[in-house]
This record gives sequence, C-alpha cells and structure tokens, in this order.
Amino acid sequence: MSVLFAEKSWPQIKEYIDQNALVILPFGTLEEHGLHLPVNVDAVIAEQVAIRVAEAVQERYPTLVMPVAWAGYSIRKMNKWPGVISIRSEILVEAWFDILASLVKMGFKKLLCINGHGQNPEMIKLAARRISDEFDVHVVTSNSWGLAAETMKQIRKSEMGGCYHGGEYETSLMLYFTDLVDMRKATNEDIMKYRSDFYPGDMFGSATGGTFLSTWYVQESRTGVYGDPTEATKETGRLLVEGMVRNYAKLIDEYMNLK
Ligand SMILES: [Zn+2]
Repeated sequence: MSVLFAEKSWPQIKEYIDQNALVILPFGTLEEHGLHLPVNVDAVIAEQVAIRVAEAVQERYPTLVMPVAWAGYSIRKMNKWPGVISIRSEILVEAWFDILASLVKMGFKKLLCINGHGQNPEMIKLAARRISDEFDVHVVTSNSWGLAAETMKQIRKSEMGGCYHGGEYETSLMLYFTDLVDMRKATNEDIMKYRSDFYPGDMFGSATGGTFLSTWYVQESRTGVYGDPTEATKETGRLLVEGMVRNYAKLIDEYMNLK
C-alpha cells in the first residue's frame, strides 16, 4: 500500500488520524554536490530513506510520508556554484512550523522529521520546539547520516575527511537510489584535509559535543565536493540504507510507545 500522504483522499487521511498514525517528514534541499552528482542529492536521500522506513514499519504502525521539503537553507558561499536554492532561515522556521502545525491541528500526534541536508537541522529543531510548546505534541527530529553512523564506521573505504558534502556517504546512497551519478567525474581532490580535536572534518568523525565550524570556511573546494566520492559504491549505499532502516525502526518503536 502506498505510504504517500499526498496520494490519499481526506477520508483516507482521517482513518490514519483515527489510528494515531506516524507521519514522516523528509527534509532536503537543492544544492550543488560537485561534478558527479545532481543538485537534488539531499532531497532524494531524505525522501527515499523516509519511504523505506515507512514501508518497514507500516505493518506495526500506520505510517504516512509527506512530500519532501525540496528547498532548505544554504550559506551564501554555496552560490559560487549554480544550482543552489536557499530560503532564509527564519522563513523556513515559520514554514516548517506551519506544516507541522497543520498536521497537528488535523489530529496527528506522532511526527518524525528525517533530514538529509547539513544546513537544515537548526531550523527543523526550532520549529519542533515550538510545536511542543504550543500543542504539547512532541516531534522527533533526526539526520539520516546520524542513524547510518554505526554502519558507515564498519564499511567505509575512504579515510577520515572523505565523508562530507558529495563524498563517499552521499555518493554511495545516490548510486543505490538513482542512476544519476557520473562516477567518471568523481575526484578525491577536495577531501577534507583540515582536522582537529574540535573539528573532525568528517560527518562520522567524533566531534566535541556540538562544536561547529562550517566546512566551507576552513577549506576551499574546486569541484564543490568536500570529501572523497571515488570510494563510493552502490553496495555501500545498500548497506547504509539497511542500517538506517534498522535504526529508524528501533527509534519508531520507542517513540510510538511513549505516552
Ligand atoms: Zn548533501
């Protein structure tokens, strides 16, 4: 059965509400990802992971997936490359609050955000906190790569600095989900070289709490990549998806059983 919210009629949506269904909201953006990837990487990853997670849990919990939020926020420096659509962060907080609030007002109480874009989390969390404060409905926010971390640590081929924007992680997932990757154009020249105790230079490095510094300001990129896509494979993508679905299913079990 389709898990897509947008394809349901209102009486069908009402049935989901009556069953206290889970709604998964994928968040991406349109942003350059180097020479070898299309600009929709973050949107594709968030949406495809959301659909697979929903399909995996829908027998236990009725689940719907919202259309992906295809435009997010990108820092100004990204405009060096064509293909970037950026909405101002304060507008996104308002818009995403309204989307979540619409779902809450129609009766949904279990909402899970799956984000695929590194510059979205702050806005998603702000919108989610406001939902808690105003409606006493508690939204789970997550980044897809966070739930892929344990798998990626076991199977990665690139060295530290290889998994960031357009690197091994995202390229592997795009190889698995689409036929839009041109591996002939993938290079490792823009692997992250800067690394310190405070700044891991890799999505799967160990950061010190929430220490943050934008990749784009510590190293210039020629291709638009930060990482090493040359080590990416479709098989890595498949294993990552398996690991993510497994972890999201556990997270959902926990969330759906909280009062
Ligand atoms: Zn990305």
